[in-house]
Amino acid sequence: MSGDVMVLVEHGDGSLADVTFELLGKARQLASAWGGKVHAALLGSAVLADQLGGADVVHVVEHATLADYLAEAYERALAYLLGDVAPRLLLIGTSTPGMDLAASLAQYWDAPVVAYVIALEAAGDELVATAQIYGGKLLAEVAVDRDRVVCSVIGGSFHADAGKAAGAPAEIRMVEVGGLDDLRSKFHARRLPEADGIDITAADMLVSVGRGIAGKDNLELVQELADTLGVPLSASRPVIDQGWLPKPQQVGKSGQKVKPRAYLAFGISGAPEHLEGMRNAELIVACNTDSSAPIFDVAHYGTTVDLFDLVPALSEQLGS
Ligand code: FAD
Repeated sequence: MSGDVMVLVEHGDGSLADVTFELLGKARQLASAWGGKVHAALLGSAVLADQLGGADVVHVVEHATLADYLAEAYERALAYLLGDVAPRLLLIGTSTPGMDLAASLAQYWDAPVVAYVIALEAAGDELVATAQIYGGKLLAEVAVDRDRVVCSVIGGSFHADAGKAAGAPAEIRMVEVGGLDDLRSKFHARRLPEADGIDITAADMLVSVGRGIAGKDNLELVQELADTLGVPLSASRPVIDQGWLPKPQQVGKSGQKVKPRAYLAFGISGAPEHLEGMRNAELIVACNTDSSAPIFDVAHYGTTVDLFDLVPALSEQLGS
């Protein structure tokens, strides 16, 4: 059985996504245990190949249909590379493309798929994957002894630094894939939601608010604190779903992944889907009246004070 591991490179707007480096680091660890190589599949952006020194071989497919993300084109190119390289494991991020591709490629490749993975280890010849089920409320440990498997990994599960290497990869292969001129779907346009100029992913600090705020009018309170600190306001999904704040300010699985130096969470319970977007913040401070709220499992500091008492007091103290 091959010991090679292939990683789908995720990129956008001319830069590589952090999850790519996380996967390359883990791929190196597994490939070393199995005596194999690390392969990176880079679709549509050859200029990024030099930055993938964490891989032994970078397979580049360039084609007009790969210039933007198009599931059918990605699927065709990856299916070709899987046949060509025959790795033992394909690693994909649990992102929008990853969720599109993991199951369909597994079906094409006749391989099992393990989704929502947060840990991966080699145990002899076996691969042991820990995966979230029921939205992260339970963890499943899955041992796979097949000669091929697809895993989609939740971003933030591994250290990105482990996959960053100085210098270019040992080998860059330009690969021709047939059939890309003959697709049934076509990329039209990418439409991003209006962000009012707020980019919560770039913030050093976030004031974040959840359903505990209890009404749109009360947002003024947390907005005032955010303004006092000079930082953006972010929110959990219920706040966004009710239309109280715009979608680009949502943190979590179906929102933005943020990594600020400080994340101040007010009235947020800490559901797995929310934690997925913010658990890598350097410092997490939580305010929740329920001492058993799961947000306290990840918070460095916490208080069970009522947010309606704490937030105005903080704004007053910090503003004076
Ligand atoms: P709640 O869980 O209702 O928590 C409110 C908290 O406020 C409670 O813990 C309560 O004790 C506290 N509170 C109440 N009053 C006060 C007060 N006066 N002072 C202090 N604390 C108070 N969620 C996200 O956030 N982001 C996502 O991207 C996301 N994606 C999802 C994707 C999927 C596929 C699914 C199924 C769910 C997703 N969710 C997401 C929803 C998620 O499961 C939770 O429902 C959501 O995170 C809960 O938001 P919350 O913590 O604001 O609300």
